[in-house]
Amino acid sequence: MGTPNARVKGILFNIQQFSVHDGPGIRTIAFFKGCPLRCIWCSNPESQSATPELAYNPERCLTFDHCVRCLEICTPGAIHKNDDNRPRIDRRLCTQCLLCTDACPAKALWGYGETTSVAQVLEAVERDGVFYARSGGGLTLSGGEPMHQPAFAIALLEEARRHRINTAMETCGHCRTADLVSAAAHLNTLIYDLKIMDDSLHRQYTGVSNALILSNLKQVRQACPQLPVLVRTPIIPGINDNAEAIAAIVDFIAGMPRVRYEMLAYHRMGTPKYGYLGRTYEIAETALADGRMTQLKQMVHHRHPDLPLVQ
Ligand code: SF4
Ligand code: SF4
Repeated sequence: MGTPNARVKGILFNIQQFSVHDGPGIRTIAFFKGCPLRCIWCSNPESQSATPELAYNPERCLTFDHCVRCLEICTPGAIHKNDDNRPRIDRRLCTQCLLCTDACPAKALWGYGETTSVAQVLEAVERDGVFYARSGGGLTLSGGEPMHQPAFAIALLEEARRHRINTAMETCGHCRTADLVSAAAHLNTLIYDLKIMDDSLHRQYTGVSNALILSNLKQVRQACPQLPVLVRTPIIPGINDNAEAIAAIVDFIAGMPRVRYEMLAYHRMGTPKYGYLGRTYEIAETALADGRMTQLKQMVHHRHPDLPLVQ
C-alpha cells in the first residue's frame, strides 16, 4: 500500500478482531490511545493517556529470587524491591521508556500503546475480510477517543473506504467540530456517546463540560444527514441510572433523523487494569440494581415510541 494515507501513523493500545459489539456484523476494533475525558467509571483506563505507559502484574513475576532483569535495566531507579520480593514501581520516577518490558521474561511488565500505521491496521482488517463480507462487518475506530488523533483517524477511515471496508467510529464527541465532520464523511456508522445532560454533573464525573459534545452531535447530524448514528449511554449506578437522567438524553435526540439509542449496563471488567497501571478504581464496589436496565428501556419506549431502541 503506497498511498500517503497508508503511511500515516498513530498510537493504538489494541486491535481486537472478531468483535460483534461496536457496529454491524463482525468487526475489527482499532482502539486509539488518548482521551480528553476522565470518566470515573472508565473501563479502559489504559486508553486515557495519549502516550504509551507501563503496566505491571506482580502475579506473573518470577520474584527477585529468580530474576532481577527489570531492576538492572531501569536506570532512573523507578523499580524497587517490595516486601513480597517482587518489584514495586515508583511511578513518579518512571519515564515510561518501557525498556523493562522487553527485559521481563515473564511478561509481568508490558506497555499499553504502540505506534501503528494505517497500512498495518488495514492489513489486520483484511486478514478477516471474508467474515466481514458475509456479516456486513468491517472496521470500527474506538478508544480512548479516535478524534484525539484526528489526522490518523481520518487517514485510516479514508483509506478503509478506498478498500471498500465498512467503517464505524465511536466518539465521546469532545473534539474539533471540523475534525468530526471530516471523519463522518468517511463513515458508514457513527457511534456517539452521551453520558449526562446536566453540565455540572458531567463536569464532575467526566472532567469536562458537555457543551461541545451536544453541539457537535447537532453539527454532525446537519452536515451528514444520511449517516446512521447510534447514540450510546453507559448506565452507571448512582450517577445516571435514573429515569430523569435518561429522559433528558432521549428528549435531546428524539426527532433527529436516522438516530438509534442504546444503553449499556455498567460492568467492572476494567478493574484489574487500574491495578496494572498503579491506579485505584474509585467506583469498583458499585453495581446496578436488578431490573434497572429493563425499567429504563421501558421508560424510553413509553416516552419516545418512535425512537429506535437497541435491546
Ligand atoms: S518503563 Fe523505564 S523507567 Fe519505567 S520502570 Fe520500566 S525501565 Fe524503569
Ligand atoms: S523482569 Fe519481570 S520477572 Fe523479572 S523481576 Fe522484573 S517483573 Fe519480575
